[in-house]
Amino acid sequence: MREIQLLGATGSIGSQALEIIEEFPAKFKLHSISARHSVKRVLEILSRHDVEAVAMAKEHEETVQRAYPDITFHALEEGGLEQLAASAPSTVLFNALVGSVGLVATLRAIEAGKDVLLANKESLVVGGELIKEALKRSSSDLIPVDSEHAAIRECLKGSSPEAIEKIVITASGGSFRDLSKAELEHVTIEDALSHPNWSMGSKIPIDSATMMNKVFELVEAHYLFDVPYDSIEAVLHRQSVVHGLVHFKDGNVLAHLGPSDMRIPILSALQGSQRQRFPTLFDLTAHGRLDFEPIDRERFSLFDLGMAVANKGGLHLVTLNAANEEAVRLFLEGHLGFVDIERIIKRTLDHFDNDNHLTLEKVLAHDREVRRYVHAALLKQ
Ligand code: MG
Repeated sequence: MREIQLLGATGSIGSQALEIIEEFPAKFKLHSISARHSVKRVLEILSRHDVEAVAMAKEHEETVQRAYPDITFHALEEGGLEQLAASAPSTVLFNALVGSVGLVATLRAIEAGKDVLLANKESLVVGGELIKEALKRSSSDLIPVDSEHAAIRECLKGSSPEAIEKIVITASGGSFRDLSKAELEHVTIEDALSHPNWSMGSKIPIDSATMMNKVFELVEAHYLFDVPYDSIEAVLHRQSVVHGLVHFKDGNVLAHLGPSDMRIPILSALQGSQRQRFPTLFDLTAHGRLDFEPIDRERFSLFDLGMAVANKGGLHLVTLNAANEEAVRLFLEGHLGFVDIERIIKRTLDHFDNDNHLTLEKVLAHDREVRRYVHAALLKQ
């Protein structure tokens, strides 16, 4: 029986993780959860699971404790995520948070010797070096919950890292892949949120449409599989059926395919080495054809910019991520147009210097400073 701490339990990935946990009650048990404000949904989860601890915004403490006085409550404002991640060493941490807010929990869980199932790719974007160092000192495993990386992990089973020639991950191109740059000026939030293939929360569809999601995923692959950036590539693949490929030195290429269903990488991460039965079978003939094309670097101009930042590494990745998170939030709140996301990111990267000697304190302080800068810059214009 695997006991699971689920951070971001009410989000898109968190909800799909709960579905899988509930599908296999003899294998998985929910130990604790975090959510920010969805108190109704949290109470509903608590009514179905024998949960030991909850982390939420402090304002919900009374409501939760009145209904469930035996549950330990951690306030998010008082380090609740860290406390949860550092506690219960026999559990595994499923990090389904969105944004760099997930970094500290990832690090604390690794320090506590727990395996981390990571859907929070921003942890690796802003803290890849810190996580790599922490893993060296710990017995923890870091398991990706991202369709492309879960695919690569399957392809690499039984092979040594030295056998890898190149890793390829696929990109759907997002909701605006058939629009020209000029047409992007007029797109709406609703257009952006209707992703052609995947069911996701609100941030990743926007990151997919700007191709920033793929930049982050190449960074994620770089740290997860310990391969240099010039051995990792992304290609456009509209059908999202092939999720990742590994080219081996001997000329063999292994590709992973499956439906666009996040519950498969979720189950893969949760199950460990013992394969469980997924409820539905994949039908390849339903897809007919598979297309692959290079990413249009002019059309998706944030891709090259992002990769240049990734290659330099250091604090610039924190700048890139925080500027992106704030620009996407402002777009979703209706304060910015879609094309302004790129403008804000460029301007913010120009404003801050890089620094390759990272500490957690430096990363967190810089993350806050960049967010302040983005909001101040927006007010000035
Ligand atoms: Mg992905």
